[in-house]
Parts: sequence; structure tokens; C-alpha cells
Amino acid sequence: MYKTWVAKAPKAPMVLEAVDPGPLGAEDVEILVEHCGLCHSDLSVLNNDWGISQYPAVLGHEVIGRITALGPNTKGLKAGQRVGVGWYSGSDMHCRQCMSGNQHLCPSAQATIIGHRGGFASHVRSHWPWAIPLPEKLKFAEAGPLLCGGITVFNPLVMYASPTNRVGIIGIGGLGHMALKFAAAYGCDVTAFTSSASKFDEARSFGAQHVVSSKDTTAIQKLNSSFDLVISTVNVKLNWDAIINTLAPNGRLHIVGAVLEPIPVSAFALIMQQRRVSGSPTGSPVDIAKMLDFAARHNIDPQTEHCPMSKINEAFARLESGKARYRIVLDADF
Ligand SMILES: [Zn+2]
Ligand SMILES: [Zn+2]
Repeated sequence: MYKTWVAKAPKAPMVLEAVDPGPLGAEDVEILVEHCGLCHSDLSVLNNDWGISQYPAVLGHEVIGRITALGPNTKGLKAGQRVGVGWYSGSDMHCRQCMSGNQHLCPSAQATIIGHRGGFASHVRSHWPWAIPLPEKLKFAEAGPLLCGGITVFNPLVMYASPTNRVGIIGIGGLGHMALKFAAAYGCDVTAFTSSASKFDEARSFGAQHVVSSKDTTAIQKLNSSFDLVISTVNVKLNWDAIINTLAPNGRLHIVGAVLEPIPVSAFALIMQQRRVSGSPTGSPVDIAKMLDFAARHNIDPQTEHCPMSKINEAFARLESGKARYRIVLDADF
């Protein structure tokens, strides 16, 4: 039997329940959970903000743990190995996206916390390609948030930035603080945008060379035509016109924050300077492995607050209050 923290309905507090997981799939591994990061998406799925949640729900998709059992058709993994599991924990491995290395774009990719039991539990299961071995040097207790938040902000840098670029990061929270660390280690000239003056110094400590208030329209206007890449991590409405105007010719606004209101874009702002607006979800298993190697090599750890998993409901409340600095990690205590 697995012990799981279960939400029975939207916004319901999670309760501890034992569940029978049934037989382990031939291509699946079983992982004993040690730590699991708490991501804003866990809250969105708990509250059914996106209308795709399934209940009962076991949340948690930034899992760190050790492999305790392997199905007969798994490959390249062994019992006792420490691995991480992120937003996805399975894909069909035969569709065009999977065969071209974009398993995170697989139309039948299995989200770890939708119709599947996530990592706020004693054990989690994953399709073997999605259980990513951790580099030795990585501080594993802090590594959970890299599996979802980390890869989400690392992938746009790999896809679109070069070390000579000027890069802006909007929102200094769970995602944004990791984006600053990655972009600085990548070699970019990094500007942080935050609505909170109390985060200016910390943004610099994460690697920002410049910090701008996202509420200061005059300061933003002074940055017109400067950035090669702006990554937005926020889930609130911004002055999008002003942000798009900070893009240099050929610049790109890249969205990773799940803002629910549409983003209005003026055709002329794009056409005249050949700008782009784009978005991306997490990344493939190989992208995640590359990101973990990069993080280990550059000593990049998310800044975390640890909390025992038994305090899961308090942890969700703290995340919702916006007080977490910057990512909460729940330590398994079953
Ligand atoms: Zn596929
Ligand atoms: Zn997430």
C-alpha cells in the first residue's frame, strides 16, 4: 500500500490515505519519494483553475527519490538509483513528437498529477524514460524544483538565447529566480523585472545585473528596443505593449507563466522590428538531463523552504499567500 495525500474535490484540503497501487506496469518504475517541490501548477490543479483536474487528485510533480522496483521492460535504470520526475511521467514513445525527441509535446503525454498519482505520497510511479537520473554533484534535497520550474525556464534559454544576449526575466518568484541564475550562468546580460521593491537586492544576488520595477512605466520605456529575449514567468496581466516595445529587432517575448487573460499584441509592434511572441511547456527527458548537468556544473540550486510533507495543507496556504521564498520543498515524513 502507498500512503498518499489526496484532494477529493476542487479546493478541498488534502487528507492522508493508503491506496493499493495495483501491479507495476512493465515499462514503469516505482520510486520511494524523499522530497517533492510544491509548484504553482499544483495549486492550479488543486483548484481546477484550468478545468482539466481529475479527483481524487494526488499532487506533486517535482519529485526526488530512489527507485525501489522496476518493471521487466524498463531500460538503463537500477534499483536504489536516485532520480527525479517532473510535470510528465509518461509518453507513448512512438508518435512523431516522441520519435523526434520532443516527448514533452507528445499528444498522449501523461501529466504526473492529472489522472495519475503524483509525488505528495510515499511512492510515485513513472514510465522509465521520464525518471531522470540525478548527477552526483547535485544537492538532491534542493533539486526537486528544477524538475518542473527549472526546466521550464532553462529550455527557452537553450532554444533562443546566446551568451552575448541581453535577457529580461519578468517576475522574481519560483520560476523567475531560477531563470536569473540560469541566464547569468549562461553568460547573458540579465535584467530582472519585479513588482516588489523588496526583491531588488535578492534579484541581484541571483545574478541580475539590472533590476527594474515592473510598475515603473517610465523606467520600462527607457528600455525600448533593448532585449533579445524576455521571458515572462508571471501569471498576471502586464502592460504587454510596453513589454513588447522593450524587445530589440528580432527580439522575442517568451511566455512560460500561465496567465489566463489573453495577451493583446499589436501587429505593427511585431512587423516593424521583426519581433516574435512564443511559449513553451517543460522539456524532454534529454532536455531535463542537460539542465540538471548544467545546474550541477554551475552550482545552481533553487532557493527553497523545507517543510515536512505532513504539513502539506499549510504549505499550500503559504504558497497561495505569495510568501514563499522562493520554492517550497516538502520532505517525505510517512
Ligand atoms: Zn508520443
Ligand atoms: Zn510545475
